[in-house]
Amino acid sequence: MENRLSFYNTLTKKVEQFIPNEDGKVAMYTCGPTVYHFAHIGNLRSYIMEDLLEKTLRYIGYDVKRVMNITDVGHLSSDADTGEDKMLAGAKREHKSVMEIAKFYTDAFFSDCKKLNIKTPDVVEPATNCIAEFIHMITVLLEKGYAYESGGNIYFDTSKLDDYYVFSSQSEKELLVGVRDDVEEDANKKNKSDFVLWFTKSKFDAQELKWESPWGVGYPGWHIECSCISMKHLGEYMDIHCGGVDNIFPHHTNEIAQSEAYVGHKWCNYWFHVHHLNDKSGKMSKSKGDFLTVSLLEKKEYNPLVYRFFCLQSHYRKPLEFSYEVLDNMSGAYDKLVKKIGTLDKEGAVDKEKFDWYRGKFEDALCDDLNSSMAITVLYDMLKDEMSDATKYALAKSFDEVLSLDLTTTHAAKEADNAVDGELEAYVLARIEERKAAKKEKDFAKADAIRNELLEKGIALEDTREGVKWKKIK
Ligand code: AMP
Ligand code: ZN
Repeated sequence: MENRLSFYNTLTKKVEQFIPNEDGKVAMYTCGPTVYHFAHIGNLRSYIMEDLLEKTLRYIGYDVKRVMNITDVGHLSSDADTGEDKMLAGAKREHKSVMEIAKFYTDAFFSDCKKLNIKTPDVVEPATNCIAEFIHMITVLLEKGYAYESGGNIYFDTSKLDDYYVFSSQSEKELLVGVRDDVEEDANKKNKSDFVLWFTKSKFDAQELKWESPWGVGYPGWHIECSCISMKHLGEYMDIHCGGVDNIFPHHTNEIAQSEAYVGHKWCNYWFHVHHLNDKSGKMSKSKGDFLTVSLLEKKEYNPLVYRFFCLQSHYRKPLEFSYEVLDNMSGAYDKLVKKIGTLDKEGAVDKEKFDWYRGKFEDALCDDLNSSMAITVLYDMLKDEMSDATKYALAKSFDEVLSLDLTTTHAAKEADNAVDGELEAYVLARIEERKAAKKEKDFAKADAIRNELLEKGIALEDTREGVKWKKIK
């Protein structure tokens, strides 16, 4: 098929035509949330823009498979491999177990996504599900001489690579300062930029989740999870890897280092990074006391989709500053837009020529480095044009496949969509029984496959003491 989309590839530092490895198909991976707290609306900016990319790809005809991890272990409070595991700190804060908070905040994340009309990726995989895969990759890296054991931990040896700083135009020195913050250096490392693949020794012995490994009881580093989870579901070649700009270094740099050392060839061709949402005081952070969440916006009586509208009005490659004044303006504009579309008479003939012309313009805007504000301008222009209401309505409905602003969905329709129909319930209950049987037979692969299949259909399972519970998440 024709490859019309171009976007900025962090790897080549230019806007490039997107050409997937396999014609018409896209293997896409997204770094998922670290589930030790609610996502702030900055995190969700990244997920909204990644959702826009995925939906644009689908709209212009690609078959997309998108995978996302859930970071529930190994992401330390400092990117320099020291500090406490964020999950453990979160669990302590709330006097709960790590798994309890992981579950709670994973559900909260998907609930926020649903409110923002962010599609759940085709596969969602928590890091704690994949320990065997991590151990396998680390074993291979050790065998190939890319990793070493020191002081009880396994490290990746960055000096074995010709080009470790693949992304950066900054100097090595600047980057190292960037990750070091105020933490002391790990004396076990051979090179400053080496990173941990597996911990058995850390200052924080209270680490709650630990697993047996050939190198002792321990837990994985943060970077290894994304390499393994993406390869588990997408194979050794990937088209697009996404994340926020803070992930470029060290997380994505380290992912590339270990993945390419493992597979022995280039791994991912396009790297899509979303710039940060800042508040007036600077970058948002989950560790800052009262941070901005979707629930807070709702408490202040904003429709979460107004926040999506706000994000779509600006380019993903520009930092965006949040303020309630701007959100108020967006809210007014959004209400007017939905109202206008609501008054259109849906009945009647659609002018095919006009429809195709505007759809083409809309696609052109998105294909031009995902120019979402231009795509919204096409929507406004179209609504002002001389043509039948039915054509306008059909176009608004079509554009909303990508914008996902509920432009033509009435409240009643949304409620109906959220309701659970009997047929679906019967199906889910039958699959839960099959999963139970598979677990009894110790066929965990089948049990996981059933969980994932339901997740793809928008059904999340929860194992509780009272049995398996389930709910719709998209
Ligand atoms: P985390 O839950 O901290 O692992 O982050 C989840 C995602 O949010 C990652 O892709 C980050 O790069 C991204 N992110 C973190 N802070 C911001 C921000 N202020 N604006 C946009 N994206 C962010
Ligand atoms: Zn990642």
